[in-house]
Amino acid sequence: MRYSSTRDKNATASAAEAIAHGISVEGGLFVPDTIPVFKKEDFDKLRSLDYVGRAKYVLKQFLTDFSDEEISLCAMGAYKGNFDEDKPAPVKSLDDTTHILELWHGPTCAFKDLALQILPYLLTTSARKVSDGKKTVILVATSGDTGKAALEGFCDVENTEILVFYPNDGVSEMQQLQMNTQKGDNVYVCAINGNFDDAQTGVKTIFTDSSVKEVLKKNNMEFSSANSINWGRLAPQIIYYISAYLELLDKGVDLSDGFNVAVPTGNFGNILAAYYAKVMGVPINKLICASNSNNVLTDFLSNGTYDRNREFYTTISPSMDILISSNLERMLYELTGHNDKLIKEWQDCLKETGKYAVNKETFARLKELFFGGCCDEEETSATIKETFEKYGYLIDTHTAVAVKVYGDYKNESGDTRPVVIASTASPYKFAKSVLESLGGSVPEDEFSAVDMLSKLTKTVVPTPLAALKNADIRFNNVCEKQDMNKVVLDRLGIK
Ligand SMILES: *Cc1c(COP(=O)(O)O)cnc(C)c1O
Repeated sequence: MRYSSTRDKNATASAAEAIAHGISVEGGLFVPDTIPVFKKEDFDKLRSLDYVGRAKYVLKQFLTDFSDEEISLCAMGAYKGNFDEDKPAPVKSLDDTTHILELWHGPTCAFKDLALQILPYLLTTSARKVSDGKKTVILVATSGDTGKAALEGFCDVENTEILVFYPNDGVSEMQQLQMNTQKGDNVYVCAINGNFDDAQTGVKTIFTDSSVKEVLKKNNMEFSSANSINWGRLAPQIIYYISAYLELLDKGVDLSDGFNVAVPTGNFGNILAAYYAKVMGVPINKLICASNSNNVLTDFLSNGTYDRNREFYTTISPSMDILISSNLERMLYELTGHNDKLIKEWQDCLKETGKYAVNKETFARLKELFFGGCCDEEETSATIKETFEKYGYLIDTHTAVAVKVYGDYKNESGDTRPVVIASTASPYKFAKSVLESLGGSVPEDEFSAVDMLSKLTKTVVPTPLAALKNADIRFNNVCEKQDMNKVVLDRLGIK
């Protein structure tokens, strides 16, 4: 299978090249030339496998330049022993139609672990194939959860170095603590004075700066990305949508008309994986794209114009505080029949004016596939409370956005198909906001809030979060957004 760049079809790559390089030289994202479609026999086979087996089966379709043994090592390394009860993506059913796909049972308690536990294996395997011994330098821009998940995944992985940038006032206390206490000799963490988009733009700029690349090359190093612009992040996310479908079958849910999927969305990676699962044959009906107050995608899906020229809000669902959803570029590439010229035109327009409008055909196709909706912080809080009161089930501030928007969709459309709602983080990563939503008084200290939440809801604090209470702070760096370049070179000890 070959991959091509969304901004230049002629820039092609093997899977290993796409993963090792992260992004195409002209700034486009790698997309597979064709998406494999599973038949009934495939799904029957998949149904008999555990998560590791499903991962191997799915990844084999996309990573055609990996040997079976390599894929097996990657899948085992990532998904065996690193998730609660060895179930990386269990489905909890609240009633006959409402099914929650819990994606936060990994080491950092957010869905990013599903991809970032395996990415280091995929990346080092790829680098061995295509980068002849160069050290891989991973740059990460994070709105909170990617940073920690990437640090945990790459911690002390041989021949890699990882640097994470996060917005100084844009992550939760727990998220910040998770990152700043990270162990490992090859890790580095720095806050920037700016928001997530500044961090992401900074990282992208460093990636595509030819003089910086030259310096790295001289020192036998190469950049790659652990953000969802890397195909190695996206492919593993397809697995859990396929797995969720198989779990619904096992539970005997009536899927004769398919099911809907609701995803709390930021960079559009998670929901794009659901789209790919649909193309591969999973009977998904509507893709429900849920946003918080940073509702650039809701507007886009309602009028076909992507416009980031608007106020940026810092919310209680910080991992979705994003105005430039990188993976939308891949979606549009798919929907325009891989029209690289058009995608480049739109992306150039976005860069120059902060907005672009898609053509009629693309918009019509988008409307068919997606429902876009958003909710503000009050509604998010109210949804946490309602869900707990109605089902005795505790959700975090991101999942709540999806639950709320799904409810709006159901009311508006009258569609009563079963739904899978992606639950993207443990409520304990956002303990204060969740506690406040439930009406509890909120203590100043983060871990007191964690304990109170546990007592109030009779739920268990995830071990990795409880352990942070006594962890040493290793990083407290802050830089200006225009200095990220220098921070990277200083850390690597090169000029
Ligand atoms: C990253 C993240 C999201 C957004 O996912 P995208 O793939 O960027 O759309 C939602 N919720 C949580 C908890 C996250 O960490």
